[in-house]
Amino acid sequence: MRIPDYHIHPDFSFDARGTVLNYAQFAEEKGMEEICFTTHLDLDPVRAPREGWVRVNGSRVPNYNPSWIFKYIEAIEEAQALFPDLKLKRGLEVDYFPEVESLLEPFLHFSWDFLLVSVHCIQHLAVANEKEGAQLLSLMTPEKIASEFAKQVKKAILSGIFHGLAHLDYFKRQNHPGFKERFLSALEPCLPEILTLLKKQGMALEVNARAIFRYNLKEPFPGSHILSLASSLGLETITFGSDSHNPLELGLKFDTLLSLAMKSGFKAVTTFKGGKIENIIPFSQIVPLLPSYPA
Ligand SMILES: [Zn+2]
Ligand SMILES: [Zn+2]
Repeated sequence: MRIPDYHIHPDFSFDARGTVLNYAQFAEEKGMEEICFTTHLDLDPVRAPREGWVRVNGSRVPNYNPSWIFKYIEAIEEAQALFPDLKLKRGLEVDYFPEVESLLEPFLHFSWDFLLVSVHCIQHLAVANEKEGAQLLSLMTPEKIASEFAKQVKKAILSGIFHGLAHLDYFKRQNHPGFKERFLSALEPCLPEILTLLKKQGMALEVNARAIFRYNLKEPFPGSHILSLASSLGLETITFGSDSHNPLELGLKFDTLLSLAMKSGFKAVTTFKGGKIENIIPFSQIVPLLPSYPA
């Protein structure tokens, strides 16, 4: 088995390119047996002018009306019919903010395999973004950002809606001087509670490779310290995600993630179907991806 990639943005996401079919083709070339699509669902009305839309057949469509989901699911089903040996899972990456739950309700009637949740923003500002992060830091300290972040993550987990938590220490990519150190050390005392809640809710902790191949960080989101802590607290359920925004990024750096997860005490990677654990694949059964050749 190859590690299933459980964080993928096809071109329904405004910031991604490559169709669902392109991804399926590339996954098969790499020898993958399973991938899960997790297109963005960013419903914050304050951010809607910038992020409140999806791309359907090349056109811009507002995302708050769930009718586009039929097209998304259809695209996955069509690709599935063409690649019967590759499991294609249906998911979303939902941006969590305090008022999201009521806005999300009409989206929950579809049959999802895996709903990934992320906290990208505090007070409607994208913390990891250079400009928006600087703007937020003129309003509050890194310690306050960490406590607001922890509060939102806990709420997201306790909502009972989601199956996986994406890129837990994602804000560490914000390069504002001194931010990363102060944010991470203020987050530290909140981590045992967050990780214990994840375990109790039966949710997966995501190990996200984008930190390494896109943001040039030495470690994934989250880093080895958090992974070891999670494992020592008895959390066993993890997924791997490239967070790819184009098909060539599928499964990138998964070898690095695998060795880090093993060193941190994890033994297996988990897959989901209909929001429930489907398979637990021991690391001993994992083989490397096939090399890809230029077209
Ligand atoms: Zn994200
Ligand atoms: Zn993502």
